[in-house]
Amino acid sequence: MDPTIEIAVRLAAFAAVFAVMAAWELLAPRRELSVGRKPRWPGNLGIVIVDALAVRLLIPTAAAGTALIAAERGWGLLNMLATPGWLAAILGFLLLDLLIYAQHVVFHHVPVLWRLHRMHHADLDIDVTTGGRFHPIEILLSMLIKIAAVLAFGIPAVAVVIFEVVLNATSMFNHSNVAMPERLDRVVRWLVVTPDMHRAHHSIERRETDSNFGFNLPWWDRLFGTYRSAPEAGHVAMTLGIPIFHDRRELRLDRLLTQPFRNDQAAEPVSARSRAGAAADVSDSVGSVKPS
Ligand SMILES: [Zn+2]
Ligand SMILES: [Zn+2]
Repeated sequence: MDPTIEIAVRLAAFAAVFAVMAAWELLAPRRELSVGRKPRWPGNLGIVIVDALAVRLLIPTAAAGTALIAAERGWGLLNMLATPGWLAAILGFLLLDLLIYAQHVVFHHVPVLWRLHRMHHADLDIDVTTGGRFHPIEILLSMLIKIAAVLAFGIPAVAVVIFEVVLNATSMFNHSNVAMPERLDRVVRWLVVTPDMHRAHHSIERRETDSNFGFNLPWWDRLFGTYRSAPEAGHVAMTLGIPIFHDRRELRLDRLLTQPFRNDQAAEPVSARSRAGAAADVSDSVGSVKPS
């Protein structure tokens, strides 16, 4: 695909899904936001721009460019086996999705990686913008891991581009604060991770944080025993975030960027404080979330 067309497709898909989810959140919100959009969106959208620039400047070939080189030179399993294009594309997509799931599990369980990833979890509300709120170092590491997989398996460029566009869209979808009828959610969550499914992953409770790792296909969580149907406190009453960063000041772009390098005692997702203690901190700093 022509690089200009590829960038246009990526941007158009991002803008369209973002607009639809942002409008849906306004029309039918799932939870009342505790701090709202205004204090959060500049930081969350700022980090999306920082991430895009970081990848483009530091790893300009990215995963799709690497896939073209691998295909040309016959590198990677699928290229060596001369797998038919359609089959290689489907297998490539599934492999990338499984890889992102596995990477997410590892980023939760290795303390130094959790420091990078916890910034995603520290958002005081979750909505469409949380879907792109990842630390640039996590994004760069993720890109290197994807590139390694592309080289090892010979994943075709078309699968890489489709996967990245779809993952971007599903991440915005499943972080959005939208109310979906329960019966519809029950069906949809067999095909794609839904907002109710992913919200449990943003719980302040450690055992809930360490569940529902999927961002796109929901099957890996069910297959590997990390699936949780709902947060214990319920979707409206549950508390979101990371206790040590439960502060409005932590929503600023500069604070987001420095979070991995601060607060040594917080190498774990949830500090040793009791749930009651954590909940008290939340109401002190941001106000408790009221049922809508
Ligand atoms: Zn996570
Ligand atoms: Zn998330």
